[in-house]
Amino acid sequence: MTTTNSTEPKLREQVAACTRLLNDLGLMGYSGHVSARLPEGDRFLIQSFDQSRASVVPERLLICDLAGEKRSGPDGLRPPSEVYIHSEILAARPDINAIAHFHHDLTTTFTLVEDMPLVPIKNHSVRWADGIPVHDDPSHVSDPALGRALAASLGPHHAVQIRAHGQVITAEDIPSLLIASVHFTENAEALYRAHLLGKVRALSAAEIDAFHHDFKRDRHVPKLWHYYIDRATAKGILPTDWELE
Ligand SMILES: [Zn+2]
Repeated sequence: MTTTNSTEPKLREQVAACTRLLNDLGLMGYSGHVSARLPEGDRFLIQSFDQSRASVVPERLLICDLAGEKRSGPDGLRPPSEVYIHSEILAARPDINAIAHFHHDLTTTFTLVEDMPLVPIKNHSVRWADGIPVHDDPSHVSDPALGRALAASLGPHHAVQIRAHGQVITAEDIPSLLIASVHFTENAEALYRAHLLGKVRALSAAEIDAFHHDFKRDRHVPKLWHYYIDRATAKGILPTDWELE
């Protein structure tokens, strides 16, 4: 299991910030969630069912276990009904420490038609070069068995589309999760527009390999995380006193 170096207070502020950023960027609406595995490995932070995604605060996050049960958090707050997305994927994939689930309409459109798969077309989408599975069951992931089925659909990949429903994005930490979410939806938007213009040219295997070889993820993620934090702080979407970097 990869463990996070972040402390719980910092993870709380990162989860709250990531949720507000996804909301401000138009990726996450009134529903959806961000989770982060706590350092002990078998607990995670997540928003409650009804906390506004535009104003999540660190102290109102819940701690849940890998059965999806609330273990601590303010009285009266309950986990989201789809908490099992997070509990079951974190249980199945020790390499994953952060998960986002949202319902981005245009990206979901690729699950509504036949013979039009969501494939990597932009350079930063090579993260998903090994495939973007589609989970065929559009139901809310509202019990552990449904969560396990979704985790099976995800398999070893870094994202899964839920047909007629939304997306699940996975990463090793919260900054990487935000940037992956941005690139995943950017790629879907680019592919959608490319289909409108004409015959789509996918990235070749050689081009994907070359980009993987040259790409410096350890520089790219902090640069973009800083950019989105800085931009949101200037807009008043994030407080200035959170420890986010
Ligand atoms: Zn959902």
